Amino acid sequence: MPIKIIVEIVVASITSIAFSLLVVLAALRLRSRESVIFHLTLYVTFGLITSLSLLMIALAVLPLPGLAYQETTRITLLVMILSFGALTLNFLKKDKNKLIGYWVGAAIIMIAWAIFKFNFLGWGTIVAAQVGISDWEIQKGLAGLGWVTAIITALVSLTLDFRKKQPLQYLNRLRYWLIATALLSVSGLVWFISPLIFGWAGLLLLTGGAMLVGYVVLSYHTPDLKILVGRATRYAGVTAILAALFFAGLAVVITLSRRIPNATTVLVWAIVVAIIFANLFPIIWRISNRLLTGIIFGRQRHDQKRVIKLYSQSISSALDMKRLGDTLIKLMIETLGIQKGIVFVNDRGGDGGDAALRPLSSIGATETVAIHFSTDSPFLDYFRQGKKKSISQYDIEVMPQFRLLSEETRQWFNDMGMELYVPILRERELAGLLAFGPQSQGTAYYDEDLDLMVAMADQAALALDSTRLFEQLATINQEVGTLNQQLAGIDETKSDFLSIASHELRTPLTHIHGYSRMLLDLTEEELKDPAYLKTLIEGVVKGSDRMKDVVDVMFDVTEANVGEMSLFAGPVNLEDVVEQASVQFLTVLDERRIAFGKDGVKDLPIIEADGTRLVQAIENLLGNAIKYTPDGGTIKIEGRPIVLDNIGSAVELIVSDSGIGIDPEFHERIFEKFFRIDDTMHHSTGKTKFKGAGPGLGLTLILGIAEAHGGNAWVESLGHDEVNCPGSQFYLVIPLHPIIPGDDDEDSVKQSQIETRHWRRSDSEAKEK
Ligand code: ADP
Repeated sequence: MPIKIIVEIVVASITSIAFSLLVVLAALRLRSRESVIFHLTLYVTFGLITSLSLLMIALAVLPLPGLAYQETTRITLLVMILSFGALTLNFLKKDKNKLIGYWVGAAIIMIAWAIFKFNFLGWGTIVAAQVGISDWEIQKGLAGLGWVTAIITALVSLTLDFRKKQPLQYLNRLRYWLIATALLSVSGLVWFISPLIFGWAGLLLLTGGAMLVGYVVLSYHTPDLKILVGRATRYAGVTAILAALFFAGLAVVITLSRRIPNATTVLVWAIVVAIIFANLFPIIWRISNRLLTGIIFGRQRHDQKRVIKLYSQSISSALDMKRLGDTLIKLMIETLGIQKGIVFVNDRGGDGGDAALRPLSSIGATETVAIHFSTDSPFLDYFRQGKKKSISQYDIEVMPQFRLLSEETRQWFNDMGMELYVPILRERELAGLLAFGPQSQGTAYYDEDLDLMVAMADQAALALDSTRLFEQLATINQEVGTLNQQLAGIDETKSDFLSIASHELRTPLTHIHGYSRMLLDLTEEELKDPAYLKTLIEGVVKGSDRMKDVVDVMFDVTEANVGEMSLFAGPVNLEDVVEQASVQFLTVLDERRIAFGKDGVKDLPIIEADGTRLVQAIENLLGNAIKYTPDGGTIKIEGRPIVLDNIGSAVELIVSDSGIGIDPEFHERIFEKFFRIDDTMHHSTGKTKFKGAGPGLGLTLILGIAEAHGGNAWVESLGHDEVNCPGSQFYLVIPLHPIIPGDDDEDSVKQSQIETRHWRRSDSEAKEK
C-alpha cells in the first residue's frame, strides 16, 4: 500500500475521532439554546462527515448507492466552511440581521452550486455553454466563492472587533479565532490547489482550526496567547542556554585535556561534565529562567512570600475599616502594577444571606457606587460553589450562569470599568470584594498574579474580620456607656420620684395628722367654739384635697404612660374649655398683676374630644405659665385651626408667657414624669406662686392627654433667664376627630380603667356639688 494512502488513513481516522469528540461536546451544550452552540454543532458535524468520507476514500470502501464520497466531501466541505462564517458572526455577537443576510447569501451560493452539480433542468449545461467554461469549473468557482465569502466575513468582523476597545480576555479569544481562521484559509488553499493532498495536509489544518474554534466557544477561559507564546519561548531559551553551557563545558574540558579527542575520551568527559552539570543544574536553571522571564515578560515576578508577609503585617495593624481599605488597595495596586482598584465591604457581614457592598476605598476609580445582591444572586452563588476564587468582567459578560444577573447589576459592573474581581471570602460567603482595573502594562493577569491576589484577599478576609470585631467592640463599648448613662438617669429619676412623692404626700399628710390630733385633743371649751372647730376641719379637708390631687395626677400619668388613657369623646367647644380652665386663676392673675389675654379661641371649630381632659391640660398649662412668670408679666392663650401631614385637620392651642423660659436642653425632658429643672426639694410651694414647683407630672399628663387624642404637645423657648424673662410657648395640638392610638384587644384593662374613671368622675362631681 502506498505510503500516502497509509498517512491519509491515519490522518482521517485521527481527525474523525477529533471531530466526533467535538460533535459530542457541542451537542452536550445544545441545551443552552445558544445560537453560537447551534452553529458550532453544525460546523463540526459537517467536519465529521467530511473527515469520514475522506477516510472512506482512503480505505477505498465502495460508495453507497447514489452517494459518491468525493461528492459528499465537496458538499460537506462547502456547508462546513459557510457555517464557519455564520459561527464567527455569532461568536462576535453581531446582530441578527447580519446573520440572516449572511445565511441568505450562503444559501444562494449553495443553490447555484447545486444547480450546476446536479444540472437542474439542464440549466447547468445551458449556462456553461453561454459563458463558455465547463460546468465543472463553474462549480469549482462557486465553491471557491463560498470559501472566500466565509473567510472574508470572518476576517472583516474580527478586524473590526480588534479595533474596538475590548477587555483583554476578549481580545485574547479573538487571537485564537484569528489563528483558526488562518488554518481554515490555508486548508482551503490546499483544497483548491491540490485536492489530492487535501486528504492528509488540508484535513489536518481543517481539524486544527475546528479544534481551536471548539475550544474557544466551549471554554470561557483561554490562556493568554501572549503568555503562552512567551512561556514556550522562555522554556526553549532556558533549554538552549543549558545546552550551550553543557557543550561549552565539554569543549573547554576537551581542549584543556590537550589530546586529540577520540570517542571514548569524549564520552568520559561528557559524563564528567554531565555529572558536574547535574549538580549545578537547578541553580543555572533558576538563574537563566529568571533572566529570560525578565527579558520576555519585561519585569521580575514578585517574591510571593515576601509580598504576602509585608502585606499581612501592614493590614493587620489597621484597626478601623477605612484604614484597612486604604492600606489594602494601595498595597495591591503597588505590588501588582494595576491602574485602578476599589475595595468593597459587605455591610451584611457575609453570613449566608444577601450582600450589601459598600465602597470602602478606591484608587484611580471614577465610579464607586454601592450595590445590593439578593441572597440568590448568581454572583454570590458563583463563589458559594467554591470552584473559583476570582472572576473577570469578561466572565460576567459571557458565562451562561451570569445571564440571570439583573440589568441593574450588569450596569453596575459595566460602569465600574474594572477587569477583575477577587472576592474576600469567609467560608465561601462574600465578606468583601476587590475590583481591579487593567494592569498598567496592558497585559492580561498572569496566573501568578491571580494566585497572589487570592492569597491577599484571604489575608484581607482575616483582617476584615478582626477589624469588624474591633469596631463592634468599640460600638458595644459605646452602647454600654450610653446605657450606663441612661441607668444613672433612671436612678436619678427614681430617687427624684421617691423624694418628690414622699414630700408631696407627706406635706398634706402632716397637715391632716396635725389637725386631726388637735380635733382629738379638744378641750370642753374649745368644743364649744364653732369657728375654731371649722378652722381645724378645714385644715383636714385641705390636706386631704391636696393629697387627692397628687394621687389623681399620679393615676392619670400612669394611665397615659401605658398608652391606655381612655377618652370620653364628644363635641367640644374650645372656647368653653379655655373658659373653664382659666376661671379658677382669675383671682391669682389679678393678685399678681399678670395680664391674661385670649386670641382666636372663640373662632375655633367644634372638635370631637374629651372635654374634661382638655380642661385638665389647659389648667396645667395655665398653672405652669402663672408659676413661672414673675408678677406683672403677661400670659396669652391663642388658638388656630391647622392641617398637619401626620395628623390632618387639627386645632393648635398656644399658651405663651413672659416668664423665666426653659433651656433648650430640657425642652424634651420636662415632659418626662417627675422631671423638674430646679432643685427637687424645692416644690409644692404653692399651685400659683412664682416658681412654686409641683411634683413634675403636669407636662407628662398634658402630653399624655394630647397623645391619647392622637395629637401632640411641645415647648418652644429661647432659654432660661430669670432676669430678662424670654418666656415660653407651649403648643397643644388636638385633631378635629380623635385618632385614638393603640388597639382594642385589651378590653378588660380598658374596662377596668373606664370603671375607675367613672368612680373618679362621680367622685369629683360629688365634690363639686
Ligand atoms: P411641675 O409640677 O414641677 O410644674 P411640670 O411637669 O408641669 O411639673 O413641669 C416640669 C418642669 O418644667 C417644671 O419644674 C419647670 O421647671 C418647667 N416648666 C414648666 N412650665 C414652664 C413655664 N411655663 N416656664 C418655665 N418653666 C416651665
